[in-house]
Amino acid sequence: MGETMDIANPSEEHAMLREMVRDWTKEHVEPQALRHDREEIFNLPLLRSMGEMGLLGLSAEEKYGGSGLDAAACAIVHEELAASDPGFALAYLAHAMLFVNNLAFNGNEEQKARILPQVCSGEWIGAMAMSEPDVGTDVLGLSTTAVQQDDGTWKINGRKMWITNGCLDDEGTPADVVWVYAKTETDDKGRVQMSTFLVEAGMIGYSVGQKIMDKTGMRASNTAELVFEDCVVPAENLVGSPGESLLHMMANLEAERLTLAAMALGIARRSLEDMNRYAAERTAFRSQIRDFGQMQRYIGESWSKYRAMRAYIYDTAAHMTLGKPGHRLDSDGVKLFCATAAKEIADAAMQVMGGYGYVGEYNVERLWRDAKLLEIGGGTIESHHKNITRDLSKTPDSITR
Ligand SMILES: Cc1cc2nc3c(=O)[nH]c(=O)nc-3n(C[C@H](O)[C@H](O)[C@H](O)COP(=O)(O)OP(=O)(O)OC[C@H]3O[C@@H](n4cnc5c(N)ncnc54)[C@H](O)[C@@H]3O)c2cc1C
Repeated sequence: MGETMDIANPSEEHAMLREMVRDWTKEHVEPQALRHDREEIFNLPLLRSMGEMGLLGLSAEEKYGGSGLDAAACAIVHEELAASDPGFALAYLAHAMLFVNNLAFNGNEEQKARILPQVCSGEWIGAMAMSEPDVGTDVLGLSTTAVQQDDGTWKINGRKMWITNGCLDDEGTPADVVWVYAKTETDDKGRVQMSTFLVEAGMIGYSVGQKIMDKTGMRASNTAELVFEDCVVPAENLVGSPGESLLHMMANLEAERLTLAAMALGIARRSLEDMNRYAAERTAFRSQIRDFGQMQRYIGESWSKYRAMRAYIYDTAAHMTLGKPGHRLDSDGVKLFCATAAKEIADAAMQVMGGYGYVGEYNVERLWRDAKLLEIGGGTIESHHKNITRDLSKTPDSITR
C-alpha cells in the first residue's frame, strides 16, 4: 500500500514549503514575537525579508515575481506563521492576500507589471481598505466617494478605518500602496456602485489619520485610520471598470477567510502543544496534572477541535481556485468554526497552565488575545451566520452532496 495522503500537505511541494516556513519561523519570527506584542511594534524589516523567499507574492504569477502557488500553500504559510506570532501573520495576510492576491487576480496587465514586482519583493508594502469609521459589515453603506474629473483622474474623499498595514511605523508613514473601495455612483434604483482604486504613497491627499493603539491583540501588526482628502488618483489606477468592486471583493474575501482560518489553526496547534507539555511537567497532589479528569477534558476537546479545524481548512483549500468566487459557503463556514475553536483552545491552554498561562512569557496569553480578532476581522461571526444561512437557502443540496 502506498502512503496515505496527508490532507494538510497535499503534495511533496506543500510539505517542503511547510518545513521551510516552519524552520524560518522558529529562527526569525518566534524570538521577536513577545517584544513586538508588548511594545506594539510592527516588524517591517522582517516582513520585507520574506520577499527573498518568494513568500510575499505567494499566489502571484512567477513572471511578476510571485511564486504561483495555490490556496493550500497560502493556508500552510499562514498556519505556520501564526503558530509563533499571529500579529505578524496578520500583517503578512494584509500584504500577501488582501493586496497582492487581489491585484494578481483582478488587476490589468499594466497594473500587474508595474506594481506586482515591487510588492512581491517587499520593496512596497500593501494594504486593503474596505472598512470605514461608520461602516464595517454593511459594506454597501460606505461613504468614501470617488468622482472622475474632466482630465480623467479620480478624486477620492473619505476615511478608512482599521486598516492593517495602513501605516508602516509610528511616525505616520502610510502603506506604499492601498487597494481602496469607494462609491462611484448610485443607480436609478438607489443601488450603490462601488469601484476599486490603487492609491500609492505620495499621491496628493493620501495620509494616515492615526495609528490605532491599545488593541486587545494582534499588537504586532499596525492598524490605522487612513484619510483621503481630495486625493488625486490617475485614471490608470482604477481596477477593472467602475462599479465592479463586488466581483473583486467576493473572490478575495474567500481567500482572506480561508487564510484567517489557517491563522486560527496555528494558534490552536501552538496552544495544544503548550498545554500538553505543561500538563506533563506540572505536578499537584503528587500527580501530573494531566492525570486529572478535568484537565483531560481540556486537552481531549482541544485535540478533537484542532483536528476538525485542520481537516476543514485543507478540504476547503483543496476545492478553492484562487481568483474565482464560488466557495463562499465553506470559506464562511471554515472561518466561523475555526475562529471560535482557536479562542476556546487558547482559553483551555490558559486554564491548564494556571497562573503561568496568564502571563506573557508563556505565550498562550498572547495567543488568547490574538484569537479574538478572528471572530471580528474579515467578517464577524454573525456575518458568517448570515451568509451561510442565505447560501443554504439558495442551494440546499450543498448539505446532501
Ligand atoms: C485588528 C483589526 C484589523 C482589521 N484590518 C482590516 C483591514 O485591513 N481592512 C479592512 O477593510 N478592515 C479591517 N478591519 C475591519 C473589520 O473587517 C471590521 O471590524 C469588521 O468587518 C466588522 O465591522 P465593524 O467593526 O464596523 O462592526 P459592525 O459591522 O458595525 O458590527 C457591530 C456588531 O453588529 C453585528 N452586525 C452587523 N450587521 C449585522 C447583521 N446584519 N446581522 C447580525 N449582526 C450584525 C456585527 O456582527 C457586530 O457584532 C480590521 C479590524 C480589526 C479590529
